[in-house]
Amino acid sequence: MSKVRVGLGDRAYDILIGSGAFQAAAGALRTLTEKPSAIVADETVLGLYDGVLEAVFGEMPIITLPSGESAKSFAEYARVSEELLAAGVERGGSVVALGGGVTGDLAGFCAATLRRGCKLVMVPTTLLSQVDSSVGGKTAVNTRAGKNLVGAFHQPSLVVIDTDFLASLPPRELLAGYAEVVKYGALGDESFFAWLERHSGTVLACEEEALRHVIETSCRMKAEVVAEDEREAGRRALLNLGHTFGHAVEAEAGYGGGVLHGEAVALGMAMAARFSVARGLAAQADADRLERHLASVGLPTRLAALNGFDASAETLLGHMMQDKKVEGGTLTLILMRRLGEAFVAKDQDQRVVLEFLEKERA
Ligand code: NAD
Ligand code: MG
Repeated sequence: MSKVRVGLGDRAYDILIGSGAFQAAAGALRTLTEKPSAIVADETVLGLYDGVLEAVFGEMPIITLPSGESAKSFAEYARVSEELLAAGVERGGSVVALGGGVTGDLAGFCAATLRRGCKLVMVPTTLLSQVDSSVGGKTAVNTRAGKNLVGAFHQPSLVVIDTDFLASLPPRELLAGYAEVVKYGALGDESFFAWLERHSGTVLACEEEALRHVIETSCRMKAEVVAEDEREAGRRALLNLGHTFGHAVEAEAGYGGGVLHGEAVALGMAMAARFSVARGLAAQADADRLERHLASVGLPTRLAALNGFDASAETLLGHMMQDKKVEGGTLTLILMRRLGEAFVAKDQDQRVVLEFLEKERA
């Protein structure tokens, strides 16, 4: 089992990673849940792993969350909060989130606000949540105006990443999570990207050691960035590579599973790379290399690859302007200097972005 520490002073915490990590961490998990605590679990995951859950926690109250993005709603936030209170969860107790990013975000927001904040333990079960959403303390629900627009920063006390959970994950979800892994290489580590070019097959076949390596590398990079810039005043925004273009696609496709978050991020990264080339900031060869790798594993890199997707450039730009990085009406994009080096580009001219989007649609 590997351990990555997120260095946040008195709120520092460990990420435990490996095959069998959930049962191996039983002692730490029981200590964190000594005071009245409860588990919030994705319904599908609970159906598959209720036996394992009982072996680790015994008779702890379990609140079930329906599977899917629609669970990140005000309605579910209210229901789960009421049920946590009814279960007697105290401020010194923990909310244990068992599931993917949806469960972590919703349960995390409940923990952030329950009795003005109780402990949170993350047990992520999708690749996306294991490499990204379970670490860093962002919690949220979706609103009519857009995704993740109401939420809080609330760091977990422990993250337990058991790669065994991934055995039951649908291949399309695994691949979507892999897009976020590629993101870490593309934004900050060319040698990790090169490793992925050689080993994507073993990762996507869920070979234990390959999974542990990519999750540890991703979490180490995320932990480092979060420790430096917890509230996204600067460098943390780099983790949004591919997300501004990607969110526009996701918003337009409607979060119903038509385009998964990771798929949108893959396409968004390819677009960010091409935009960087168009602005004379990066070399064509680097954008090509990124696109080639994403396409080689079956991730989308072109708008045209999305079935029945026909949003206008204006519509896409409208979605991009909902981004949390928009300041005083101007767009901030994460662009690339080369593979392995992204940077924050403020004040992007909307007309230039619009022109680019028109070309991308052609
Ligand atoms: P998800 O939580 O919806 O899980 C995807 C699907 O896989 C669901 O149907 C779920 O029931 C199923 N599932 C989960 N684990 C399984 C397992 N082990 N075996 C079989 N099925 C399993 O989606 P996700 O991709 O994990 O997360 C996406 C969410 O994460 C989005 O809402 C996104 O906004 C959020 N997110 C948050 C952050 C953050 O920093 N907080 C970062 C990235 C993404
Ligand atoms: Mg993401």
